[in-house]
Amino acid sequence: MALTSESIDSHQRTGQPWNDMLPEALESMSSPREEVRGMGSILSKVSQVFILTDENVAPFWLPEVEYGLKCEKAVEIVIKPGEQHKNLQTVQRIWKILMKHHADRNSLLVNLGGGVITDLGGFAASTYKRGIKFINVPTTLLAMVDAAIGGKTGIDFGGAKNQIGTFAEAEDVLVDPVFLSTLPRREILSGLAEMLKYGFVADADLLKSNLKDYQQYISRAGEIKREIVAKDPMENGLRKILNFGHTLGHAIESHCLTIDYPLLHGEAVALGMAGALWLSVKRCGLDEKVLKDFEKKLLVLLSETEIAFADADVESVMGYLAHDKKNQGDKPQFVLLEAIGNPVWNVEVEPDLVKASLLYIIKVSRR
Ligand code: ADP
Ligand code: ZN
Repeated sequence: MALTSESIDSHQRTGQPWNDMLPEALESMSSPREEVRGMGSILSKVSQVFILTDENVAPFWLPEVEYGLKCEKAVEIVIKPGEQHKNLQTVQRIWKILMKHHADRNSLLVNLGGGVITDLGGFAASTYKRGIKFINVPTTLLAMVDAAIGGKTGIDFGGAKNQIGTFAEAEDVLVDPVFLSTLPRREILSGLAEMLKYGFVADADLLKSNLKDYQQYISRAGEIKREIVAKDPMENGLRKILNFGHTLGHAIESHCLTIDYPLLHGEAVALGMAGALWLSVKRCGLDEKVLKDFEKKLLVLLSETEIAFADADVESVMGYLAHDKKNQGDKPQFVLLEAIGNPVWNVEVEPDLVKASLLYIIKVSRR
């Protein structure tokens, strides 16, 4: 994608959606210790503490968190980073370590990391001895606003994402934006895309730049997710709105893996949201201005990646759409918007229109 730094800068100057939200803005933030100490009350009630993290997060934050928790005797479990390790083999390794240290039902697992760690750790904890307590300490923006909250845990299996899992609530989720100070800019932008999703389905304020800081954005996004999950924990209806942008997004994400051009989850969701907004204009009477505004944001969201997705890929993406595990039969189900904050779900869209939305995504992401 030919995107010049001028185009990003000028957009940031004029629309300034996220000037305050990129890693530079976090450099002056304080250490997480005060925040983390807040967990002391839980820790005093447990028999043993285990901390699960990955090799990227450990050097930055493991000592800080151990110090903050005053649990120098915690057993550290450090795994290799990346989605490819969110599997049964890693879970077995965690179970074995828990067993070796005689973890009992009163032990606690602290999941310190991104969505891979919170999904995996939550799954290992919720199944070991029929379930031990766990706390999530998310260190990516994506995990802070999505994966770490809402009580879903899981691992990948048989080549597909999140096929095996449990519904299990963390004892606590400790969100501290300071962890984002070491997160690469591309990962921050990926998390921002997921955060905008909440803006589209529930709160226009999240699409503006009038909130003061990360803490406010993250808290609001988390609040929205919690409210929706509380109303529909098992995803029978309303919770589906959290899949806004994900029907097309997942299909694009899967396709890009096969052409060896992996996109981050939030990048694929950003593309998926562009398609969903385009379909919403065509099918649900959404004001076209919403789409035009997002087109500018999309270029910022994709500014750290190259999109290798072209017209010739449309058929392959259509194939992934037909196999989406959330389909009824082979018909993809979309979440679309009548207006910002007014989503409709279980919308079936005719294949020709879906293809047209993919061509729109390709065009708009390559400008
Ligand atoms: P998510 O699903 O939340 O995007 P991952 O667990 O796959 O998360 O994390 C994305 C990448 O960022 C991984 O390589 C992980 O090791 C790394 N990472 C997570 N948190 C931080 C952090 N605070 N600082 C630096 N790297 C991090
Ligand atoms: Zn998502």
